[in-house]
Amino acid sequence: ADKNLIVSFGEMLIDFVPTVSGVSLAEAPGFLKAPGGAPANVAIAVARLGGKSAFVGKLGDDEFGHMLASILKENGVIVDGINFDEGARTALAFVTLRADGDREFMFYRNPSADMLLKPEELNLELIRSAKVFHYGSISLIVEPCRSAHLKAMEVAKDAGALLSYDPNLRLPLWPSAENAREQIMSIWEKAEVIKVSDVELEFLTGSTKIDDESAMSLWHPNLKLLLVTLGENGCNYYTKHFHGSVDAFHVNTIDTTGAGDSFIGALLCKIVDDQSIIEDEPRLREVLKFANACGAITTTKKGAIPALPTVDEALKLIKG
Ligand code: ADP
Repeated sequence: ADKNLIVSFGEMLIDFVPTVSGVSLAEAPGFLKAPGGAPANVAIAVARLGGKSAFVGKLGDDEFGHMLASILKENGVIVDGINFDEGARTALAFVTLRADGDREFMFYRNPSADMLLKPEELNLELIRSAKVFHYGSISLIVEPCRSAHLKAMEVAKDAGALLSYDPNLRLPLWPSAENAREQIMSIWEKAEVIKVSDVELEFLTGSTKIDDESAMSLWHPNLKLLLVTLGENGCNYYTKHFHGSVDAFHVNTIDTTGAGDSFIGALLCKIVDDQSIIEDEPRLREVLKFANACGAITTTKKGAIPALPTVDEALKLIKG
């Protein structure tokens, strides 16, 4: 039988990572190109785990845009939902950890192609065939991408897809962090699965407590599953009927980039085939253990995409 499709919607960009760490951006002798963008990482995470995966978004009609599309394709992701903007260029990020321990960021986004996806450019046929529609990009809050996003969500939902959201606020980078909550509300309230990190939970609730009460204050009527990821402490889960936590795996962590994307990709791979897992706590815990294993493995290698695991790698870690 044909596999069930997971569509990831949003941004894809290139992170330029200095070849030497502990220097400022201006002092970096050179940069390595690391493809990323959370929804694109999720799309590749799903494909690497053997799932059927498509990416929907816009890239620049330039060297970087075509490079990113080939990376998705080489990794087994369906690319029929990608548009290329002839005017604007692909988003770029320069990120470095300076000697004083502070992160320094510089973005090419004025605006970049990902922010310019228009509703009429969407590949509706592809979106309608999704069983799970996953989203979560900084670019979705600006027009015209915002309208495209709302339309894609509606089309996917009407066609019966489960809506999954990871806000990826990248605090404190969110363009206007003080009203991020309002900016994401129309998107947030439609999601049926939501994954937030502990840092995002603090920010969204305005409380420094990472407890059940603060997590439940984020609950809304359409939600079926809320996940709070806690890095090396695993994750907490909340449904209408039960809640609990699942421990992380102990690994030799060197770079946590992409751990959250790996986690949600793994979870979606399991629930795309059987949504009843969400209502069955023992099975949900098994799936979250698998997702924790995938997240953990992603922290053991540099970068996001090269570190995303296969099913065999995840099972090996689980068996110990
Ligand atoms: P995000 O990348 O969104 O901030 P987390 O860092 O919480 O998300 O990571 C997502 C998941 O990956 C965690 O729930 C956990 O299972 C796993 N993970 C992350 N960091 C570690 C770590 N240092 N050791 C083991 N597992 C980790």
